[in-house]
Amino acid sequence: MKIVHRFFAAFVVGTLIVFAAQLDASAYTTTGCKWGSGTIKVDTRYVNGHFFTAIKQAISNYTSATDVTMSYVDASGPGLKAQNADYGYTGWEGRADWTCALGRYIGVTAKINMTYLPGTSSTDVPRLKVVWLHELGHSIGLGHVSTVKRVMYTSASTAYSNGVRSLTSDEIAGVNALY
Ligand SMILES: [Zn+2]
Repeated sequence: MKIVHRFFAAFVVGTLIVFAAQLDASAYTTTGCKWGSGTIKVDTRYVNGHFFTAIKQAISNYTSATDVTMSYVDASGPGLKAQNADYGYTGWEGRADWTCALGRYIGVTAKINMTYLPGTSSTDVPRLKVVWLHELGHSIGLGHVSTVKRVMYTSASTAYSNGVRSLTSDEIAGVNALY
């Protein structure tokens, strides 16, 4: 009887470990849309001040940590645009709006709302970076996750408040699965 119990316990532990590993491996979601190429340019004409410092860091993070090569241009052309502006009391501090056809992005605008995130101090840059990482994540195909210590958690600012500063393993896995 004791032997049977021990065997049962070992079986249960083994099952839990496998289950946890599977959860970890698939901890990203997608928007159902992506770009046709992993070489992605961002139009940053309408990004300025500390927002620009922050988005440069976010873009660099995508290029260094994932299979995507992201860069910025101070010119029109790229279908992916970023913009910080005072959008008013909209209820969102950042968002990405896109048009998609047949699973491919046609145009995306990633936004930060200065009503909630004024970005007046250089000490704001780390938080702005995480919000840009989040909106750029949507802009290349990532959806939300329910784990708070992830860039793609529903609220990027809450993720920041919980210690997130750069892309985590989940976003990296998601981007590398898409591109
Ligand atoms: Zn979001």
